[in-house]
This record gives sequence, structure tokens and C-alpha cells, in this order.
Amino acid sequence: MINVTKTFFPPIEEYQEQLQRIWKNQWLTNRGELVLELEEKLKNYLSVDHILVTNNGTIPIQIALKLLGNGGEIITTPFSYVATSAAIVWENCTPVFVDIHPEYLTIDETKIEAAITDKTTAILATHVFGNPCHVEAIEAIVKKYNLKVIYDAAHAFGVSYNGTSIFEYGDVSTCSFHATKLFHTGEGGALFAKDPKLQHQLFYSHNFGHDGPLAFHGLGINGKISELHAAMGLAVLPHMETILAERKRVVDFYNQNLDVTKVQTLKIRENTQWNYSYYPVLFENEQKLLETIEKLNQINVFPRRYFYPSLNQVPYVDKVDMPVSEDVASRIVCLPLYVGLDENDLKRIVSTINSTL
Ligand SMILES: *Cc1c(COP(=O)(O)O)cnc(C)c1O
Repeated sequence: MINVTKTFFPPIEEYQEQLQRIWKNQWLTNRGELVLELEEKLKNYLSVDHILVTNNGTIPIQIALKLLGNGGEIITTPFSYVATSAAIVWENCTPVFVDIHPEYLTIDETKIEAAITDKTTAILATHVFGNPCHVEAIEAIVKKYNLKVIYDAAHAFGVSYNGTSIFEYGDVSTCSFHATKLFHTGEGGALFAKDPKLQHQLFYSHNFGHDGPLAFHGLGINGKISELHAAMGLAVLPHMETILAERKRVVDFYNQNLDVTKVQTLKIRENTQWNYSYYPVLFENEQKLLETIEKLNQINVFPRRYFYPSLNQVPYVDKVDMPVSEDVASRIVCLPLYVGLDENDLKRIVSTINSTL
């Protein structure tokens, strides 16, 4: 069975080597040696000044919204994984959707200003499929209206824009190290921020608000990652070059062999060094999409409808129309993309798709 993705497993001996260190230390959580080492290695790998590794990629969004959202209106994208808008509602803020760009699939920056009210406190936008939002335009808007910007960069591990890590943009950026993501710790994630005061707030917020064992800076939650998860990260990280080369191989194959006159593929923003994280294709209409998925299922291939439905249509938000996002969501699917995806399987996938077009 071929799924949209397949978790990368490092050689088990390499994971065991990391586990030996944990047994030797007799230390399982609360920022042990492996978590600290993982943070150092990720800072280096990503060329960022600051990182806080967390237990998943959702808690970081919630912590950022708790600190910067103030229970207000959050301008956000309807085209993302459900965690993005769920976090807003969970933090008692109100999502205000702004439609997406039809080719980049990120929030349409030209429509943001019209959605700002005196209740707006922040923008939460997703670098969807690792494709950067128009960060300069968004920066100009948040400056003009004195708002905060949080980027859900769950898909953007290793992406750089204008030669800088995409995680360096925004007041806060978040990432996910879930098993289905490009780099993973099984479950895990990260917070990035440039402002030292905000870094401090993020830090204590992810550890129950502690200021030492007996005092508290403020409200907090448990966003800590364990040594067991950090061990997986330390075992996966040395393989990033292989992971990226393998993913590029698959992406190049699709680019060269899919009939791209009949399907639309992702337009990567200019000046982006992309990470080959997903391979979305848009069909002419939903009927064609469903027909193609059916045919792929028959040869045991299971792509995923990332992302469906458009998030303005989940049951716990106020109904609004988002024509571009709804249209895109109705006819987009992500094709299998992972390390070791066999060339013969790729040929079968591509010929099945091309034959339905
Ligand atoms: C995966 C994902 C998340 C959530 O990350 P978890 O680590 O699963 O909590 C958030 N936003 C987006 C866009 C994602 O794809």
C-alpha cells in the first residue's frame, strides 16, 4: 500500500545509541541533555538564533495566541491543516478568514487590510506546503496597524526565503515535528521568536509558568518534549541530506512526467529555497479529482485530500464564503512523496493520473 507519506525511520542502532545516553543519565524529561543538544543542532542546521523545542506543533500555536492574541480577532487562512483555526477557537479568540492566493495557496495579502477591525490583535498565517506567505507585505500591514504576526510554519522545516530561514519571520513562528512531517521526533514541534522578552514568555509558558520550583512568572501549560522524542530527532537529523535528496527525486519525477498542461501544480514563491515537503495537484474539478483518486485506490495508492474542507466550513466557526479556498479544497490532492518511493511505483501513479485527464 502506498500512502501520501511514510515516516522516515533512522537505522535502529542509531536510535539505540541515543537511548543508551538516556538510560545512562536516568533522565527522561524536563529539558535533559538530549533536548538541549537537539536544540543546539537544530539552531545550527536551520541557521536560526533561537529555538524552543516542544511536545508537538499545536501547543506552540496556542501558546503564541495566548501571549499575542488577547482574545481578539485573528486574521487567518482557510487553507491549512485544521490545527491552525482550531487553536484560535481553543484560545477563545475569533478566527477571521481571509481568502487565499489561487496559485501560491497562501493567505492573499492584498485582502488582509479589508478584514482588520478594532478587535483585530494578530494575523496567523500558514506557509502552506512549505511555500512562504508574502512576508514583506504582511510585515508592512502589521506595522501599520500595530498587530502581531504568528506563522504556522509546520510544513516549512528547512525552507529559506531571501537567504534567511523562514522561521526568522514574524513575531513567532511554529513548526511541527510530527511523524508525518519532513523532519520528525515522532511527536514534537518548535517555537521561534526574535524578541528576547517574548522568548522568555514563550519559555515559561511552555513549562507551567515556572520561575524556579517555587515561584511563577505567569500562566503556563505543559509544552515540554521528552528525551525519548529528542532521541528520535537526534537520530533523524543526520539523515536530512538523504531525506531532501530523495524527496527532490520524487518531486522531479512528478514535474517531468505528469501532464502539467492538464493539472495545476504548486507555484513556489520567488526567492524561496523550498523543502519538497508536499506534492499537491489541482484537477479541473472535483469530479475529475474523485475519479482519479478512485483509480489510484484501485492500484493500492492512497493520496490525501490536503486540505479539505476549507476551514471556514468546519462546524465551530461562523459561516463565511471563501470562494478561492473552497474551490481549491474541492479539487486538490497531495500525491505520495517520501524517502524510498520506488520508481516503478511512481510510473504507475503518473500513468494512472495522466490516463484520467
Ligand atoms: C501538522 C500541522 C500542525 C500540527 O502539528 P502537530 O505536531 O501534529 O500538533 C499544525 N499546522 C499545520 C499546518 C500542520 O500541518
